[in-house]
Amino acid sequence: MNTVASLAKAYSLASVWHARQRRKGKAREPYIVHLAEVTDLVTSATAGRDIDLTIAALLHDAIEDAKITGAQIEAEFGGDVAQLVLEVTDDKSLPYAERKRLQVETTPHKSARAKMIKLSDKTSNLRSLAKSPPPWSFERKLEYVSWSRRVVAGARGVSVELEALFDAAAAEAERSLC
Ligand code: ZN
Repeated sequence: MNTVASLAKAYSLASVWHARQRRKGKAREPYIVHLAEVTDLVTSATAGRDIDLTIAALLHDAIEDAKITGAQIEAEFGGDVAQLVLEVTDDKSLPYAERKRLQVETTPHKSARAKMIKLSDKTSNLRSLAKSPPPWSFERKLEYVSWSRRVVAGARGVSVELEALFDAAAAEAERSLC
């Protein structure tokens, strides 16, 4: 498959796999909006030079949220894409708080490409917190922003552009809470 065909297939599968999933914010946007935003961020930051990274960004929540397996991703897009998605997937058998703690602890040890997905994911989530806030308490939203900052502290050094976009999104999310 060539690059354009792979990308078209990844968009199609992501939209089907996440068809019934919506964002947590009050606008309840279809989940593909988040996946497309993360993909756009990662792809712009790498000038479209890393097709596997672009596809992995599009599929980054497929294992965690849509019960797709690494083997399914590998069969469609190859081992490199599957490995990247696995690298940014939380272990859902662990309790929520433990998964959140592990993200902070493990992100510094991830590959540069996984860090780019992490940076873009957190940027998208914080933009969403500001634009379409979920029905959470002030304290929970504030903790979410500060947790995102702690995860991203371990993902710095891979893209000046993505870091600047994250910093702007975090500042905007904090302003929106005041
Ligand atoms: Zn995500």
